Amino acid sequence: MIEISGLDKSFGSLEVLRGIDLTVRRGEVVCVIGPSGSGKSTLLRCVNLLEQPTKGRIAVDGVEVTDPDTDLDAARRHIGMVFQGFNLFSHLTVLENLTVAQRKVLRRDRAEADRVARENLDRVGLAEKADSMPAQLSGGQQQRVAIARALSMNPNVMLFDEPTSALDPELVGDVLGVMRGLADEGMTMLVVTHEMQFAREVADRVLFMDGGVVVEQGPPAEVIGDPKEERTRTFLSRVL
Ligand code: ATP
Ligand code: MG
Repeated sequence: MIEISGLDKSFGSLEVLRGIDLTVRRGEVVCVIGPSGSGKSTLLRCVNLLEQPTKGRIAVDGVEVTDPDTDLDAARRHIGMVFQGFNLFSHLTVLENLTVAQRKVLRRDRAEADRVARENLDRVGLAEKADSMPAQLSGGQQQRVAIARALSMNPNVMLFDEPTSALDPELVGDVLGVMRGLADEGMTMLVVTHEMQFAREVADRVLFMDGGVVVEQGPPAEVIGDPKEERTRTFLSRVL
């Protein structure tokens, strides 16, 4: 689970996150929505310390990642992250993309890493693509490989930052389908998305951010279906 309290993040004089409090319980799916520049990606990047928070505490599964004494590499190992771009190694096969970190970071031997990789490729519906190169795959398939790669590290939580926004519309459904499957399996997920239908159907909770603060949060039927705050309504009227 993820516990964030009093999180501030500034870049120079620009205050991007201001006093974020957020708990994502085990097995919970929280979707973050909000306008461009509201701090959604920065929030996710703080959780796995791709950005150093200016102030506040973040704990993942009880390990305080903001504690200077925490072994960050060890903490990050259990946090899967999937971005808008797929960031696959273009010179490696799909299978190798899934085994590199398992072998280097988790020190699994080749047979074990291959087994876990194939299991996760199967999970995202791409078992037959193990020996393909990333460039031979569609964007949606590449993104599913990126998800399988993250899953191969046995994460306790998965962070998604607009995983479908770089995809052609016809490829979005497959990726969302994989994410929906993960949610059904009980994965703890923090998902930044513009896919309101997905948020409505899959999220346990939706968070609307604007200007670095959480303006409104609650069940999707409330935040998306019947928002209380004017800022939320204005945003939704533009995206729905
Ligand atoms: P989008 O929907 O466009 O992805 P976002 O909500 O994810 O937006 P962030 O990427 O978190 O927004 O950015 C929030 C603000 O922080 C923006 O004004 C951005 O320019 C600024 N910002 C983000 N990263 C940096 C950085 N490394 N250095 C300076 N400013 C940054
Ligand atoms: Mg972003």
